[in-house]
This record gives sequence, structure tokens and C-alpha cells, in this order.
Amino acid sequence: MHELDRGGVVRPLIDPFGRAITYLRVSVTDRCDFRCVYCMSEHMTFLPKAELLSLEELDRLCSAFIAKGVSKLRLTGGEPLVRRGIMTLFASLSRHLRSGALRELTLTTNGSQLARYAAELRNCGVERVNVSLDTLDAEKFRAITRWGDIDKVLAGIDAAQAAGLKVKINTVALRGVNEDEIETLLRWAHGRGMDLTLIEVMPLGDVDVARVDQYLPLSVVRARLAERFTLEDIDYRTGGPARYVRVRETGGRVGFITPLTHNFCESCNRVRVTCTGTLYMCLGQADAADLRTPLRASQSNELLEAAIDAAIARKPKGHDFVIDRRHQRPALARHMSVTGG
Ligand code: SAM
Ligand code: SF4
Repeated sequence: MHELDRGGVVRPLIDPFGRAITYLRVSVTDRCDFRCVYCMSEHMTFLPKAELLSLEELDRLCSAFIAKGVSKLRLTGGEPLVRRGIMTLFASLSRHLRSGALRELTLTTNGSQLARYAAELRNCGVERVNVSLDTLDAEKFRAITRWGDIDKVLAGIDAAQAAGLKVKINTVALRGVNEDEIETLLRWAHGRGMDLTLIEVMPLGDVDVARVDQYLPLSVVRARLAERFTLEDIDYRTGGPARYVRVRETGGRVGFITPLTHNFCESCNRVRVTCTGTLYMCLGQADAADLRTPLRASQSNELLEAAIDAAIARKPKGHDFVIDRRHQRPALARHMSVTGG
């Protein structure tokens, strides 16, 4: 147990299945400068500002979770680095790193603004960043993101590494889009000392294109990689759901996140909060708890803490993702940009 900077002993959050909740992902905005085809529809309606938690409210919320034993915090979105003033949040949260209450403060980003913020992030105690990149081909990148500029992302990755941030690349495997490029991405990432995590498309939100067309099982990707490389099982874990292998030929690691074909719920240690303060206890279930009302109801944290405890007591055992092939409907109506993945 550790003492928090404001004093008091940490009472860990334990769910009904005995899992300690130590990892919080917070979506700080639903907005993004890209419109990745698997994540958003082209014409998204974003939330009005009054609905969003302010940066101060986000700090209070994160700090309340840290007081309850959350030791790893990831800011995500939407695109976290497009939220105005976001660096003040990183800077204020870094006090929990200094006090030892927080072990890791990190973010998932599309990289478009990283060149600008990498050094500042490092100064706030961020050590690792996940950068999402599905292709190295500029045209394909534009098509996947609907208008993104890959040069900005590559410059962002350069800046992050130059600033001393450890970079991990996240790649969504997309049938007929980047499936022929996985080997290239792997060699590129490992050549630069970056791990690569492959993600299976999850059926979240309506995105204008059919999910079944995008879906490429990672079992297929892995089998193909195994024809070219020696994949050695390792028990390296980053606190997330990825299962890692080491590629003997490159010395680098590849992670696989397979929510559709593999169940990773038994070891789930995480919950997610949206930018409106809605707490989702499971990425794959609709049940949620409103934390904004208790947050705004008083300046002290008692109501908020009670709402967090009540919500964790409802964390479900697992999820039930299925791409509905007959109706081509998403299994859940909310977009990944709401919960941040
Ligand atoms: N904008 C940031 C980014 O792209 O890294 C952070 C938010 S984004 C929602 C987080 C991760 O979710 C990205 O790696 C993205 O590729 C992934 N993602 C988005 N929609 C997805 C989906 N339907 N299935 C699987 N992964 C998805
Ligand atoms: Fe934006 Fe990230 Fe979603 Fe792409 S995956 S649209 S970069 S939030």
C-alpha cells in the first residue's frame, strides 16, 4: 500500500470476481483530426462542450481513481492531443508519478501532433506512447484515415524517440487493406526498436462500411507470419490484453489483441471513462455509470468515490463480442472513439 499525496491509505478496487482494478483509460475528447474507416463515420456529430468534463474535472476524476489504487493511467480519445490545453492535464497528473501513487502515465495517439508535444510529454514523466499506424503507404494511409498525412505521423514518431519516449506501434489488421503489409510494418517497427501490436477489428459503432468486410482474424495473420519468422511465445505482459511473441529474426516483439477470437476477460484489470465522465466497466458491455453528476454535485469527493465503488461492484465477468453477419450491425452502438479502445 502507498500513501497518497493528500494522505490516507489506498483501498484497492476489487470487483466481484476478485480482479483488482489498477488500470484506467480515460478518453479526454471524442474529437479527432482523422476519421479512420473502422473507427468513425465520415460525418460524426461531436459532443457540445458543456457535456465534456473540464480539464480540472478530469484531474479530479483520475485522482479519485488513483486514490483507489489505480496505478496505470492512459489518456486516449478521440485524439487526446487535439484537446485544447491537454498538456496542463498531463502536467498536473504527473504529481502522482512523483508521489509514487501512479506507476505509469501514458497515452494512445494517432501521432499527428506528437512532433509538437513529445518533449513536453517526456517532461511530464510519460515514458511510453502507443502510436496507431496501419500502413506505411501514404496513399493507403490517406484512405484509411480519410484525410490523414502520414508524414506528420512519421515526424511525430521521430520526435517521440528523439525525446526518449519508448514507442509502441498499434496496427489494426484490415482484410484486403493492410494484410499484405504486416511483414513490412513488423520489420520497420523492429528495425527502429519499437514493438508492434496487432489489433483485430472490433464491432463498435456504425462506420458506414461493413464490419464483416474489414474483419481479418489475427489467427490468420499469425499463421502467415509464422511462415516467414520464428515466433517464440514469451510471457511478457504490459498490463493490457495483448499476448506477445518474440520474433527471433528481428529480436522484436509482436503483440496480438484478439477480442473476437480469444477471451482475455479473466485477467481484466481495467475500466474506461469517457470524456463526459461515463464509466464503462467492460469494453464489450453496455452497462455504464455516470460519474459526472456526483463529480459536479459537490467539491468534495465522497459522492464520486461512492459512485466508483458502486460501479466496480457491477463489473461484469466478461464480454460477448460477435459481428452480426446477417444484419451487419455493430455488436455495440458506441464508437471506439467514445471509450478510447
Ligand atoms: N486517436 C488515437 C489513436 O488512434 O491511437 C486514440 C484513440 S483510438 C480509438 C485507440 C485505438 O483504437 C487505435 O489504435 C485504433 O486503431 C483502435 N481502434 C479504433 N476503432 C477500432 C475498432 N473498431 N476495432 C479495433 N480497434 C479500433
Ligand atoms: Fe481518430 Fe484514433 Fe479513431 Fe483514427 S482510431 S479516427 S485516429 S480516434
